[in-house]
Amino acid sequence: MTPQRKIILEEIANTNTHPSADEIYELVRRRLPRISLGTVYRNLEVLCECGLIRKMDLGDGHWRFDGNAESHYHVRCTSCGRITDLYMEELCDFENIIRQQTGYEGVGHRLDFYGLCPVCKREREIPHRTDLPSSRPGAAGESEGM
Ligand SMILES: [Zn+2]
Ligand SMILES: [Zn+2]
Repeated sequence: MTPQRKIILEEIANTNTHPSADEIYELVRRRLPRISLGTVYRNLEVLCECGLIRKMDLGDGHWRFDGNAESHYHVRCTSCGRITDLYMEELCDFENIIRQQTGYEGVGHRLDFYGLCPVCKREREIPHRTDLPSSRPGAAGESEGM
């Protein structure tokens, strides 16, 4: 563990915002002004490989990094993009069923939730409507096909 890697790990552990590599770079640069983005990327990869952090793609076009390496679910705000950890049981039986039915080994799954976070909800409740007479959130029918 190099001193640089230790600082990167500390910065990720100190946040629960699930930052992107660029955001981590900004955080780390406060403590290591001369570090390069490439170094941050490389160290993030190593930390993921060691299982000390987790890398995830929540469909917003960025890899995001999680200092909580335990397997857990997330809910993402469809308005501001904030990502919040969920504390609930993993669907383990689900994976056993897949293994039994198909013979697949090393079965994993990805299940992402989305919704409107309390901050955005409050903002929407403040009545400053200029247009948008009757737009219902969630009515867009954005179903994710395979
Ligand atoms: Zn939000
Ligand atoms: Zn998380």
